[in-house]
Amino acid sequence: MSDTIAGLLADIPGERPALGAEGRDWLSYAGLAAQVAETRAALHAAGIGRGDRVAIVLPNGPEMASAFVTVAQVATTAPLNPAYREEEFEFYLGDLDARALIVADDYDGPAIAAARKFGLRLLRLAVEPGAPAGAYRLKNEGGGIAGTPDTAAPEAGDVALILHTSGTTSRPKIVPLLQSNVAASAGNVARSLDLTAEDRCMNVMPLFHIHGLIAAVTATLSSGGSIWCSQGFNALRFFAELKTSGATWYTAVPTMHQAILARAGRNEEIIREAGLRFLRSSSASLPAPVMRALEETFGAPVIEAYGMTEAAHQMACNPLGRGAQKPGSVGVPAGPEVRLADEAEDRLIGSAETGEVVISGPNVTPGYESNPEANAKSFFEAEGRRWFRTGDQGTFDGDGYLSLTGRLKEIINRGGEKISPLEVDTVLLEHPDVAQAVTFAIPHPKLGEEIGAAVVIREGAEADARGIRDYASGRLADFKVPRQIVVLDEIPKGATGKIQRIGLAEKLGLANA
Ligand code: ATP
Ligand code: MG
Repeated sequence: MSDTIAGLLADIPGERPALGAEGRDWLSYAGLAAQVAETRAALHAAGIGRGDRVAIVLPNGPEMASAFVTVAQVATTAPLNPAYREEEFEFYLGDLDARALIVADDYDGPAIAAARKFGLRLLRLAVEPGAPAGAYRLKNEGGGIAGTPDTAAPEAGDVALILHTSGTTSRPKIVPLLQSNVAASAGNVARSLDLTAEDRCMNVMPLFHIHGLIAAVTATLSSGGSIWCSQGFNALRFFAELKTSGATWYTAVPTMHQAILARAGRNEEIIREAGLRFLRSSSASLPAPVMRALEETFGAPVIEAYGMTEAAHQMACNPLGRGAQKPGSVGVPAGPEVRLADEAEDRLIGSAETGEVVISGPNVTPGYESNPEANAKSFFEAEGRRWFRTGDQGTFDGDGYLSLTGRLKEIINRGGEKISPLEVDTVLLEHPDVAQAVTFAIPHPKLGEEIGAAVVIREGAEADARGIRDYASGRLADFKVPRQIVVLDEIPKGATGKIQRIGLAEKLGLANA
């Protein structure tokens, strides 16, 4: 297995299809290689090369997939959620120290103003009429930083991809993932799923998160298969595209699977004719009844996997064999070493105990960037290896299957989308009438968790929950806005006098919302 993205694609026959999309011709592997050459020339001409960070803000679809795969063979990619507001773009573009921003030709959103503020090169991605899926040209709008680019090809130890964590106890942390991390993780997923050149993944996952970038895009390309690139998830479109895509599998978060199930009755013929080889679920816990209903509906195994940004996605995965999946378990270690550690002391513990899940392997990030404090807390040495603490609590059964039993971190997992309570607190506290704010997870039957917030209003101020919510809506991407805000006289504290986000919803009687 190769240790760079370029290496993963090197030996695949050029005539094989790589990227497809509704109404577009397939881009072959030869076409993808030609796109890499074109992208390399365009980036170098714009003064961007090896080690330079290129933020990518594109709608989901074949161009986003190919922009990631091609730019990563020249420079460092940093995909960002197009739903961010200007302040969010400002934070991420500044924090990343990006040198260029790629947007769609017709894009006129808030990322532009943020990029101008930092003097970034603006590159517009243009698609010629009739171009195959994922073929594009970069138009250099000039401006900003340009220098003499390093034109050497990225190597295994270079950063291929930068993502941010949701940042719960501090500002979001920068997670650099090396070429070798991405390549190792793609190989792990491909092996777990027995992916071959005959497989076709239908990608419905957003491509600014690790799940879609690795499990759908990079793992598929590493095995010579093809990817049908959907514009994004929508249950109606899912069935329309399931019919025409020729997909053999898809990967999604549990809420998407639930939405698909809800429409399955009307689409029995499409499901039967698609004859998917398997379905994959990750990013949040898949309820056992949903898993069973999916297996029954699709007549195919449902493979639940356990992933994380810092691991370049996959850590564990249920085995593919029929009936080898255990509902409620995230499967067996699938790539890195997976062990349990004491939650307070830096030592490994037995697999039958309950403890913090820790991982070690070539897919794991070398460490957060410019954050020695977080690295000191997250990594430790034991048994001659370096272990990363996931912040998840788990235990292994006698067959070696891992079950997650709890969470040691305060991140809110809203249907697979991770939200930092601290980031939401900060915005709520900027409201002139809010004296105190604490954001927390509320258990939710479909999403797993929903966002709640408790606020204390300044004496004499008039604000109500509705107004505070509207205020937050203007400053945070939709998925981060609290769905429930309660106004209190005082925020309940734990025994030590500290606010405990974990369990706060239950304490406030919001548990069944
Ligand atoms: P993405 O951001 O692309 O959705 P991801 O969910 O793999 O990818 P993170 O956003 O870093 O990555 O979230 C990682 C956390 O998600 C894990 O630490 C764990 O808490 C949770 N998680 C991931 N997979 C599962 C699963 N199968 N069951 C329960 N929790 C999961
Ligand atoms: Mg996530």
